Amino acid sequence: MSIHYLHPRVFKINVGFMLTAPVGTSQDSTFDFPDVRISDDLTLHYLRGPLRIGRTKEGLLVQATLHAGVEVECYRCLDPVATDSVIEIEELFATNDELDAEFRIHDDAIMDMAPLLRAELLINTDQRVLCREDCKGLCPDCGINRNREACTCAEDKIDPRFAALKDLLKRD
Ligand SMILES: [Zn+2]
Ligand SMILES: [Zn+2]
Repeated sequence: MSIHYLHPRVFKINVGFMLTAPVGTSQDSTFDFPDVRISDDLTLHYLRGPLRIGRTKEGLLVQATLHAGVEVECYRCLDPVATDSVIEIEELFATNDELDAEFRIHDDAIMDMAPLLRAELLINTDQRVLCREDCKGLCPDCGINRNREACTCAEDKIDPRFAALKDLLKRD
């Protein structure tokens, strides 16, 4: 008995064998995928970690602790930053139609984990990330990345008091 991945890149798992297993049965496996596409708007450098699928009366309970390589934007300079996002999953994929569940396994016995993974990852990558502790960000005037280039925008803005002084000096 092993988990058959129909298509690891979209995380559709054939769980037919688990649906016929007695309540209490569980199946452990490990995700270890490089370069995975979760959805059109979310690609990961990797996704790995242990995953357990357990048969319950109401469906299949998925429990996992997964590490995902997510690329996000530095919130100051917008450069891509590689982060390791850890997601803890404990979610029921219901087979019981009467149950009001967010995720379901339909008659084809396919469990599609992509929507769940996407939702968890989006919640997790919500935090602000910096490319480096002392990121200088973008210049608000000319927009250059101040980590890589220097501009004179700040110097060009002369303090009006000094401007008046300059005028006085010019008169002499
Ligand atoms: Zn930055
Ligand atoms: Zn500038």
